[in-house]
Amino acid sequence: MVRVRIGPSPTGDPHVGTAYIALFNMIYARQHGGQFVLRIEDTDQTRSRPEWEGMIMSALKWLGIQWDEGPDVGGPHGPYRQSERGPIYREHAEILLSNGRAYRCFCTSDRLDQLRKQQRQRNVASGYDGHCRHLTDEEIAQHIQAETPFVLRLKVPNEGVTKFVDRLRGEVSFDNGQIDDQVLLKSDGMPTYHLANVVDDHLMEITHVMRAEEWITSTPKHILLYEAFGWEPPVWIHMPLLRNADKSKISKRKNPVSLNYYKDAGFLPPAILNYLAMMGWTMPDGREKFLVDDMVANFSFDRISLGGPVFDIAKLSWLNGLYLRECTPEQMVEHLRGHLFSDARLVEVAKLVQERVDKLEDFMEHTAFFFNGDVRYDDDALHAMQPKGRTVKEIREVLEGLCERIDMLAEVNRTNIEQELRAYCESLGWKTKELFMPVRVAVTGSKATPPLFESMEVLGKERCRRRLRGAVAVLRNLES
Ligand code: GLU
Repeated sequence: MVRVRIGPSPTGDPHVGTAYIALFNMIYARQHGGQFVLRIEDTDQTRSRPEWEGMIMSALKWLGIQWDEGPDVGGPHGPYRQSERGPIYREHAEILLSNGRAYRCFCTSDRLDQLRKQQRQRNVASGYDGHCRHLTDEEIAQHIQAETPFVLRLKVPNEGVTKFVDRLRGEVSFDNGQIDDQVLLKSDGMPTYHLANVVDDHLMEITHVMRAEEWITSTPKHILLYEAFGWEPPVWIHMPLLRNADKSKISKRKNPVSLNYYKDAGFLPPAILNYLAMMGWTMPDGREKFLVDDMVANFSFDRISLGGPVFDIAKLSWLNGLYLRECTPEQMVEHLRGHLFSDARLVEVAKLVQERVDKLEDFMEHTAFFFNGDVRYDDDALHAMQPKGRTVKEIREVLEGLCERIDMLAEVNRTNIEQELRAYCESLGWKTKELFMPVRVAVTGSKATPPLFESMEVLGKERCRRRLRGAVAVLRNLES
């Protein structure tokens, strides 16, 4: 029985990379009559938020990614949220402690900082020096007596190599000397990614771990954990990473990475899945346009290519165009009414312009910027974007900083964006109008618009961010 999984961490917007990996896992499960599990990896309590979790699940559902077991649908191996599995990890940590494969480390963060500094000065790889590996039973007892906080570390052999077979790459091996004595349990009793991931994959009876290439350096640690528990490891498949045009790992500065962006911009789910499938894989007949069912019928690992696939939004748009043109005009209207022109959205827009409109036909003129994708900045707009006494570079940097701030918000609404903008002004020491005007122009393309915060709410996080990034690019050009 094939059992696969994805383990997204709810620490930000739903990412195209998550959809890409989810798609391949779903396809493989379907092709083999297996099961696909969604597990939420939320052990990083400071960065994980339930809003992000909800958004990840709804974005995947919107795309048509379906899982057989997960926090929302349940299943025989739950709970499917790592934050609810604390006792399971602690129990397993105990096993490693008693069979001598893990040890308590009482080092203070000061000592670890010191160690890192020295390693940097000596220009050697940073890593734990094994200090607490050699504590005597007596020393350990004293620390426990004194309630010294400790973490649990994996006892990685000092010599030899750890090998595994990757289904796409063949044998991969790592010198044990290069593998750190990884922390398994933090001092607050929470597991790290490594422990939680391995324990869950085993208990959830995962047969194939199909994940992004960036995890490949974690795999030897996972292999050592499987060995330490005496468990059989799964089949490993590390998928090529999606990349920006410059071949770096796909990032929000260079590409829209949030699935919400694609939903807002009016990309259709089958086109997105088709495109993501093409990122790692080709159809045997070389066809570029195909559906999930075609992929299920034809999928094999042998057709996955390891060259870094470049995520090219122009190509995705081309493909999306093909899907759109297949719609009847009625279906197209249905798509429009599904999101961009939904009644709920039109009502919000109407509320903002009712004051200014004398005839219904004036509506479009006042509201086009709510419906367009990118906006164009004419000279007047560019001029208004630059408050007196501030350089183009300053404004550009400030708008860039605002993008980062907006990224941290699960959504943009009139209340939080007002707070955010005011707090930002204060931290910059700028007058509110010095910031509000460039922001208004950046997100709407004009200086006379309905109220800013309300408009930003209706535009939504994705459009605001996208336009701010657009304005940043225009300003950067002006600088040089
Ligand atoms: N939590 C990890 C992630 O965010 C899961 C990696 C894995 O699949 O092992 O991608």
